[in-house]
Amino acid sequence: MILTICYLIGSVTFILGLKMLSNPATARKGNLVAAAGMTIAIIGTIFLYTDEAGNKLHNYGWIFGGIAIGAIIGTLAAKKVKMTAMPEMVSMFNGMGGACAALISVVEFNHLAFSVTPGWHTILYPPEMIGHVLIIILGLIIGSVSFAGSMIAWGKLNGSVKDFSFKGQHIVNILLLLVILGLAVYLVGWMPANSQLIFYVIFALSLLYGVFFVFPIGGADMPVVISLLNSFTGVAAACGGFLYDNKVMLTGGILVGAAGTLLTILMCKAMNRSLLNVLIGSFGGSAKTGGPAGAKQQGAYKEISLSDTAVVMSYANKVMIVPGYGLAVAQAQHACHELEKLLAEKGVEVKYAIHPVAGRMPGHMNVLLAEADVSYEKLLEMEHANEEFPTTDVVLILGANDVVNPAAKTDPASPIYGMPILDVELAKTVIVNKRSMKPGYAGIENDLFFRPKTSMLFGDAKKVLQDLIGEIKNL
Ligand code: NDP
Repeated sequence: MILTICYLIGSVTFILGLKMLSNPATARKGNLVAAAGMTIAIIGTIFLYTDEAGNKLHNYGWIFGGIAIGAIIGTLAAKKVKMTAMPEMVSMFNGMGGACAALISVVEFNHLAFSVTPGWHTILYPPEMIGHVLIIILGLIIGSVSFAGSMIAWGKLNGSVKDFSFKGQHIVNILLLLVILGLAVYLVGWMPANSQLIFYVIFALSLLYGVFFVFPIGGADMPVVISLLNSFTGVAAACGGFLYDNKVMLTGGILVGAAGTLLTILMCKAMNRSLLNVLIGSFGGSAKTGGPAGAKQQGAYKEISLSDTAVVMSYANKVMIVPGYGLAVAQAQHACHELEKLLAEKGVEVKYAIHPVAGRMPGHMNVLLAEADVSYEKLLEMEHANEEFPTTDVVLILGANDVVNPAAKTDPASPIYGMPILDVELAKTVIVNKRSMKPGYAGIENDLFFRPKTSMLFGDAKKVLQDLIGEIKNL
């Protein structure tokens, strides 16, 4: 009874925590609320759980040893991680979740009754256990794919694994998946001889599939893939919840599965790409340059000096800052906040226009700016920012490119056609800071840079912002 209440508290806090995570102002608290719920559920399980025969958990040394090692590694990793390496860490943690789910399946499979024959054993189970065995196999397949895929994604993000694909790889992947599913059906439905061997073959093939599944996907698409793998891990954990009849594991798994799926869909939608397009990697991959948009001859662009930028911004009524991936690369968030405060002291109204996929992970810009203590009230979501551009004097674009590319509206041949963008051109003046005329993630030219209202301010975002602050102070 007390354990059921612990699980109820755990489930409710997960849901509350998730809800609070959807707002930057309450996200930190939401995380703590959900973590507290998880702690209650874990402690309840360790001390109150009894099986059907009335046995309590034992092996406390192993349990608490594992918890201590995990807690130390997790805390150190979370404290040390740089903001730009966040997707990498999420991928690693997610992979560990997948591995846990797969290992639960291995343990539970070996708890089934076997015929005692030499070599590989054959499982024997009454027909009513078929659902149980099916869940074991599902947890094994999904958990293994998630683990192996997440490890490759982690390697790709930190540069230790290169994109790799060969002709016909997608066909090989589909065949591999069909073999895994075929073996799973054979194992569950027919109870064949040597079923233990078949189980481990499914395990190995699922790991291989996880590797092959992620290998050909473009490195920059990894956040979408990680989100998808995250939902897989959730489903695999929910399988564990079924096996142990553990409500909190079931609820947690389903929430992770659903949240990961929704996030994957939202990210694809914000980039105007189908999931299939991400998975078969035709964007941000080899088709980077060329194509109608890339090949188009552009006119001349004009540059603006730091001193002119300082004057234009200081005498503006309203300035909108558009942060992008380059701001994160340059680690210029603190300098950006300093500029904002300096302009505010001069009576300029300063806000930030946040595009949903600016940067390389969901919420990248929000987290980056929060790190520099930028107030949440100053961050405008895309729709609100677009409403405010017509009354904006100066837009300062800092290391953003695709998210302000008008080709998304005007060029049906462009790979980003249909992606919602920030309508910066509605403002009076547009100043773009980047280091060169090189394209962004989508690998296409940006006509905005050649338009009459636009001026280019070349240089590394952090250095440019620091120099700009100096210029404004000297005015
Ligand atoms: P982009 O990748 O389009 O452009 C970033 C720009 O920053 C580049 O053009 C680069 O130009 C410039 N830059 C790089 N380093 C610096 C620096 N040190 N100082 C100044 N500028 C720099 O970024 P956006 O944020 O505009 O768009 C994000 C893209 O990523 C979108 O296409 C989105 O679909 C995609 N994406 C987003 C995900 C997400 O979850 N947020 C996930 C996966 C993909 P230069 O080299 O000339 O300096």
